[in-house]
Amino acid sequence: MTEWIGLSRATEGVPGSAPPPEALRTPAPTEGPLVDTYGRIGDDLRISVTDRCNFRCTYCMPAEGLPWLPKSEILTFEELTRVVRVFLGLGVRSLKLTGGEPTVRAELPKLVRMLRDLDPDVDISMTTNGFLLDRLAGPLAEAGLDRATVSLDSLLRHRFQEMTRRDALDKVIDGLRAAEAAGLTPIKLNCVVIAGTNEDEVVDFARLARENAYEVRFIEYMPLDAEQRWERAKVVPSAEIIEAIDRVYPLIAEHEGGVEPASTYCFADGAPGAIGVIASVTEPFCETCNRLRITADGQLRACLFAMYETDLRTPLREGASDADLQELIRRNVWAKWEGHKINHPDFERPTRSMSMIGG
Ligand code: SAM
Ligand code: SF4
Repeated sequence: MTEWIGLSRATEGVPGSAPPPEALRTPAPTEGPLVDTYGRIGDDLRISVTDRCNFRCTYCMPAEGLPWLPKSEILTFEELTRVVRVFLGLGVRSLKLTGGEPTVRAELPKLVRMLRDLDPDVDISMTTNGFLLDRLAGPLAEAGLDRATVSLDSLLRHRFQEMTRRDALDKVIDGLRAAEAAGLTPIKLNCVVIAGTNEDEVVDFARLARENAYEVRFIEYMPLDAEQRWERAKVVPSAEIIEAIDRVYPLIAEHEGGVEPASTYCFADGAPGAIGVIASVTEPFCETCNRLRITADGQLRACLFAMYETDLRTPLREGASDADLQELIRRNVWAKWEGHKINHPDFERPTRSMSMIGG
């Protein structure tokens, strides 16, 4: 068991990597939910099913892509299902499929069916760029997917192309319609707002939310782009986005804080749809974070910005029992740090960028 506890390849020997937290060396509770030393409970699992993507969003990936993981390093559907079964036994109640781009993983509906068969009630959703949803929404819904979140940063064709490096706005809109028709609702849209690029569209997005009963979630640009072009001046504070929308469509705050990272607002005139903001940079929500992440190569990360990971793939492939996996998971979650330090001079970017984690 002990030989499986330690740093993963992703951080080993990388200059600036944090040492393993002290809590990793102390035994975690052996019963009850997945708790950390700050009392937070991890019950939301984000599963990256591939590091590959058919888009090249400027705030995420370089134009030429990244060195993709070899197939042999990616968890098989059987391995993923086994790990998820262990997490469900530890109290996880919601699963989010992500990537890279999850829909480029072959036979994704088969995985959804395998996960659904584990538990008829667990919430299963997916974050996608929407490009392949026109043909996959139906099969995914049939396999047991509950909901889809579609990433959409601009409603203008030329700007969409500039931001994603793909001329694909129409196809994504078709995918969005297919997701609605398949019942993957309520639909959420994720929109990364970047100063000087698309902040002039936030009111247009609010109108889209009202007209289609979508929840549009504006995400602050985070320092997780592979090309390291992020700068603070490019972050549009969520408070400014809410003010801009409120001037045109008055809003009422619905939910602030809690375990959901998005603060949500409804329209004061009773129109359908909602607005959410994920203010990871200007108003971090680390103290209530309930999220856990598994990368496509089977590394557990208790934080988007984690500097250490627990390798679940090696023990899985070396015959670890469910009890062994549970202990590794409990220790990693127990050792979750207080929070990322984006606003601190000591902040260091993790070695993985967004598409290698999943968002
Ligand atoms: N490919 C899928 C997609 O784009 O929806 C799923 C993976 S993507 C990494 C998950 C989410 O992270 C997307 O909504 C994307 O817009 C967001 N994202 C990517 N890079 C980001 C960054 N640097 N800051 C904030 N959000 C980012
Ligand atoms: Fe691909 Fe999603 Fe990253 Fe865009 S944000 S490059 S769609 S993984």
